[in-house]
Amino acid sequence: MAGVNGDSMTEDDPATGGRAGGAPDSGVAADGVGKTYDGDGDPVRALDDVSFAVDGGEFVCLVGPSGCGKTTLFRIIAGLTDATDGEVRLAGTPVTGPTTDMGVVFQEYHLFPWLTVEENVGFGLERSDRSEAERERRVDEMLDLVGLADFRTTYPKSLSGGMKQRVAIARALAVDPELLLMDEPFGAVDAQTREMLQRELLDVWTSTGKTVLFVTHDVAEAVTLADRIVVMAAEPGRVAEVVDVDVDRTRERGDPAFGEHVSHVRELIGARPELD
Ligand code: ADP
Ligand code: MG
Repeated sequence: MAGVNGDSMTEDDPATGGRAGGAPDSGVAADGVGKTYDGDGDPVRALDDVSFAVDGGEFVCLVGPSGCGKTTLFRIIAGLTDATDGEVRLAGTPVTGPTTDMGVVFQEYHLFPWLTVEENVGFGLERSDRSEAERERRVDEMLDLVGLADFRTTYPKSLSGGMKQRVAIARALAVDPELLLMDEPFGAVDAQTREMLQRELLDVWTSTGKTVLFVTHDVAEAVTLADRIVVMAAEPGRVAEVVDVDVDRTRERGDPAFGEHVSHVRELIGARPELD
């Protein structure tokens, strides 16, 4: 299939035209990553020899069937779980634990219920060496970015799922990380909200130039968002293929090229259409 291969995008790719550029070395790389869980008696080989690289400023989705090791890989990249083999590097430096160079967004919102929206967004800034005025300015910027300026004093329990996830994104970006790392972040919201959040995330990516690694099992979501898709297979979790999404942005689901990419990725993971 034309344009579907493992190569990196070229610099003059029209798909990224006009976007803020990422720092040249802000990318992330997995190099021979393996993970074996001890399990109850039987060890589980969750990941085997997973290697791929995300360039600075690139938007890459990680797609695969349930149980193929997406969350395990996400946690290893985030420094929350150790790899059994291989290593992950962020901007060339091995990841050995959680770092503020990554903004992490989980499927479950993980907001602090006792803090307001603005306190949640400013949480990571508390430990930074910014002045109070700088912190407030940064929180304002982030609230504007995700359209929540009018909800700054609201508590999470009064927010919809989509709004909670906007808060989580604003909080992740507030400390100005190199990488935005997301695990099925829109998995818990309804389809309409999900499409709105996808558009908003692309706007945020365009305006900030961040590197994004986004985990999903939803193939259409990956084709909507990604420059490239790392397609994984299960048992053991491994990279099946890296697919270039050479469909012009803004992408329309009715576009034949969109449909071809969705079909190709679905074939790779053996998914029946009704499953996602
Ligand atoms: P995905 O996110 O793609 O659904 P996971 O990374 O959650 O996949 O899981 C990959 C495999 O590792 C599965 O077989 C799962 O049962 C197993 N696994 C995940 N976490 C653990 C754990 N803490 N202990 C043992 N096995 C685990
Ligand atoms: Mg998962």
